[in-house]
Amino acid sequence: MIYTIQGLENDHPVREMLYNLLPTEIPERADSAPEDVDALGVCVEQVGMENCIRVCCVRQGKQACAERRAPISDDAEQTKRARTHAVKTAIFEAVSPFLDTVPEWGSLTGVRPAKFARSFMEQGYTPAQVAKLMTETYHVSAARRALAIRSAGIAMDLKEKIHPNDISIYIGIPFCPSRCSYCSFVSHSIEKAGKLMAEYLDTLCGEIVHTGEILRQAGLRIVTIYIGGGTPTTLSAQQMDCLLQTVHQSFDLQALEEFTVEAGRPDTITREKLLVLKKHGVDRISINPQSMNDAVLEGIGRHHSAQDVLDRYQTAREVGFSAINMDTIAGLDGDTPESFAHTIDTLLALNPENITVHTLAAKRGADQHDRAHNAKKQEAVRQMLEIASKKLTAAGYAPYYLYRQKFMAGGFENVGWCKMGYECKYNVYMMEELQTIVSLGAGGVTKLLGTDGRKIRRISNPKYPYEYNVSLERINAGKQAILDWAKSGSSLSD
Ligand code: SF4
Repeated sequence: MIYTIQGLENDHPVREMLYNLLPTEIPERADSAPEDVDALGVCVEQVGMENCIRVCCVRQGKQACAERRAPISDDAEQTKRARTHAVKTAIFEAVSPFLDTVPEWGSLTGVRPAKFARSFMEQGYTPAQVAKLMTETYHVSAARRALAIRSAGIAMDLKEKIHPNDISIYIGIPFCPSRCSYCSFVSHSIEKAGKLMAEYLDTLCGEIVHTGEILRQAGLRIVTIYIGGGTPTTLSAQQMDCLLQTVHQSFDLQALEEFTVEAGRPDTITREKLLVLKKHGVDRISINPQSMNDAVLEGIGRHHSAQDVLDRYQTAREVGFSAINMDTIAGLDGDTPESFAHTIDTLLALNPENITVHTLAAKRGADQHDRAHNAKKQEAVRQMLEIASKKLTAAGYAPYYLYRQKFMAGGFENVGWCKMGYECKYNVYMMEELQTIVSLGAGGVTKLLGTDGRKIRRISNPKYPYEYNVSLERINAGKQAILDWAKSGSSLSD
């Protein structure tokens, strides 16, 4: 699709909406569009104290136009935000008459729809008023509004209980037994990068020890720990034992409420490793099948079967884990709504406390990143998510957090479902940006939350293990920012 713009210096919102609405077409900017060609024209003009946005879409000889207005205020950022929203909504309104299926999130883009809903609820809007706004201004469907508003309510409840000195810790283990075809994380298969692992663990323990000292000096309370990846259980039982001993020796865990380790791939889970986790107080694990269909698992490069998932789950229960999450993905190649329903039914029969339903995203960096191919799965994914929603609701699970990613089939979302009282606090704190998260390991991004709860300062560790392994001194020096932030009472001056 060709597009032209006038009066708008940044075409990012235009491209983003076109990708959302017409994911099989590549948006191309042009100075002008010939009359007989499918094209979108966006024009922004100042009229009094408003920006007036006019969008016209021509497709197969037919035309649809939309107009939106956005207020101009003294606050440049606010003016820009209002204009961007208005541009996106006008594009949505001009293009959607030509679509067979309209995206359920309407013109709402961004990773955190619940945070968006919460921002209004915290200003005093009732859930009904937020629902009205999401419908009338952003064209969000009833199901997606309900999801965002429910998750926003859970985040608000958790936020009320957060103590000003509370923080969470994330520890990353960027290794996996093999690489899944859809994965875009910086995760290294142990076949290729196994030799880095021992050195990685030494560096990580060095970072944990130093961070523990900083947190102690800063008087911060660790309330949740999340060890993710990659696949943390790629570590041997001895390596895991060593890591968790360092965690216990370095951090004051008196206020700890939740300790999660993503066991993830069933082909890395052994009774011995689970016993090590249990011994060190880990109370929540993930065993992630993604699919319970062997052909689908093979197609995405997972070296385990559905039976392995059942066996490892059984072992985890025998070892005594009473909070288990299981991840699934809607839209994997070779999966159908019927076979996805089989996955959900099989997991429900196991009765885990949490089930997370992801939507496949065609992400850059993944082996499988064909956006057009992914976009064609929109209807199948919609059916899969509906099946999951109905079955999980009927079985007593409820959604508690969600997030979106770019290039998801149908523009849908990832949703964490749980039984009552089993919400993973870390997931909500992190996704809703409710609390400071100190992240350790390669690719870790510490997010210090300012006093206003909005401003965030990021401190990034080197992304790749080979860079991380040689940067401990610099990484540890960077931790001074945590101490400065805590001593200033969470102020984030520029
Ligand atoms: S197990 Fe997870 S992190 Fe590892 S390659 Fe597969 S999707 Fe990526």
